[in-house]
Amino acid sequence: MKEVYGIDLGTTNSCIAVIDDNGLPLVMKNLDDEFTTPSVVYFDEVGDPLVGREGKNSMGKDYRQAVAFIKREMSNVDYKREINGKSINPVKISSMILKKMIDDANILREEDGKAPIYKAVITVPAYFGSSERENTRQAAELAGIEVIALINEPTAAALCYGAKKLENKTFMIYDLGGGTFDVSIMRMKDGVMETLASEGNHKLGGVDWDAMIVDHGLEMEGYEETYDDIKNESDTGKMMLAAEVAKKKLSEAEEVSYRFLFRKKTHMLKIKRSVFEELTSELVQRTIDLVHHTMDMAKLKEPDLKIEEIILVGGSSYMPIIKKKILKEFPNINIRLDRFEPDLAVAKGAAIYASQQTGTKTNIVIGTDLGTRSYGIECYSSDENDMMIVANILYKTDPLIISETKTFRTNDEGQTEARLAVYENESIDEEVALNKCLKLQEDFLRWAKPVPKNTAVEVTFERNNDGILKVHGTCQGQIVQFEIKPKQSLSKTEAEEWRKELDMHTF
Ligand code: AMP
Repeated sequence: MKEVYGIDLGTTNSCIAVIDDNGLPLVMKNLDDEFTTPSVVYFDEVGDPLVGREGKNSMGKDYRQAVAFIKREMSNVDYKREINGKSINPVKISSMILKKMIDDANILREEDGKAPIYKAVITVPAYFGSSERENTRQAAELAGIEVIALINEPTAAALCYGAKKLENKTFMIYDLGGGTFDVSIMRMKDGVMETLASEGNHKLGGVDWDAMIVDHGLEMEGYEETYDDIKNESDTGKMMLAAEVAKKKLSEAEEVSYRFLFRKKTHMLKIKRSVFEELTSELVQRTIDLVHHTMDMAKLKEPDLKIEEIILVGGSSYMPIIKKKILKEFPNINIRLDRFEPDLAVAKGAAIYASQQTGTKTNIVIGTDLGTRSYGIECYSSDENDMMIVANILYKTDPLIISETKTFRTNDEGQTEARLAVYENESIDEEVALNKCLKLQEDFLRWAKPVPKNTAVEVTFERNNDGILKVHGTCQGQIVQFEIKPKQSLSKTEAEEWRKELDMHTF
């Protein structure tokens, strides 16, 4: 059997799974004997990277030497950090985390007399756009992983869930992780799963709840600053770790004590669950608002939408207020948390998907998945006011795997190229204002031989199952080239150098 890992490259924690000898998804522990690995890299005094648990445990020493929540920056073109004179970026950091995941798993396989695996299906948030997906793919390749597919996290979670309970139903995956929040509405029918809508917020997750505890602690102790003001101070890491521990305890206890060191002073504090819930009520409300928005999007496809179950996924779903609030908001919908391993489901689902891709028959398959982003080109608005807008070609409500061709005509005699600007956006309108779109690439469409004026150039926008946009075309039978290069990815030389550097390390 061809074996492939399923990897959940998470904002706070990552997880790796494989299908075991009995055909069931098995989460592999790391060398620290844990099922999940913190997605943290800490650079020690001499600049050596500590990845995973060791990295997270060291974070308290000096927050400025730590890189956490890097997934939130996957498409941030302005991200710039230098640690110990070395420039780092989201692709590089993600590649280190992935290398740690796969190296640990392969060492454990070797102990069992099994061959190493270098292929994987990697999960990404459904709302990830084309560049973020391309960057994830490059990070994996730098870590020596052949990426079989990228799939959406909620789809993977639903696969894991569906593999356990094969009923025909429409359900919602509410995935509140450490740094991100995702909602998807899916329908399972006769073993085929379809996504009806998928939305997300990549700046909303457990860490925001931690920051609220830090803010509260600072206020109680008479400081004027908030977490945002002290982000770059060395003690902040310790405070965030203490806040996270307190938050987790509050999922079980009504009141907890915690301690933090700030500006050479130790502070002892207590916090009640009711206070914590009040402090964070606006964050919970933001998740509920997105749930409603996602339902509205699903209703565009399915006007009689009736959600029968809400499945809570992601570590932050353990906070009791989440279940309570959803129950209050949707009293007639069944809620599932029931220790459904919210933090392992995504990796397991990825492993199930991986086994399907390599030919293993499973009792559930993915039908239509959704695109989650729209793509278009810059052109004049159709209402003749000479305004530049983006005319959408692929819509986020379209199926994930799709191809659309548009015909343009050359303006001049003997053209061998034509300018094209490709944009990504979240709108479902035909025309979208430029400032609501993200420019992916502006470059020339190029073909080899000159053609007469007014020749048809056919340009195809294509999205395959990993959600990455590709643009290509033809002009009088000639191939038209257009490459979309994500801004964060490394150039060929940088990638070579980084690969060599990674090879020198076992994390
Ligand atoms: P994930 O990305 O799914 O691994 O989620 C990690 C997030 O879940 C982190 O912010 C954790 O602090 C949070 N988390 C994990 N367990 C609990 C718990 N028992 N109560 C509250 N939050 C938790």
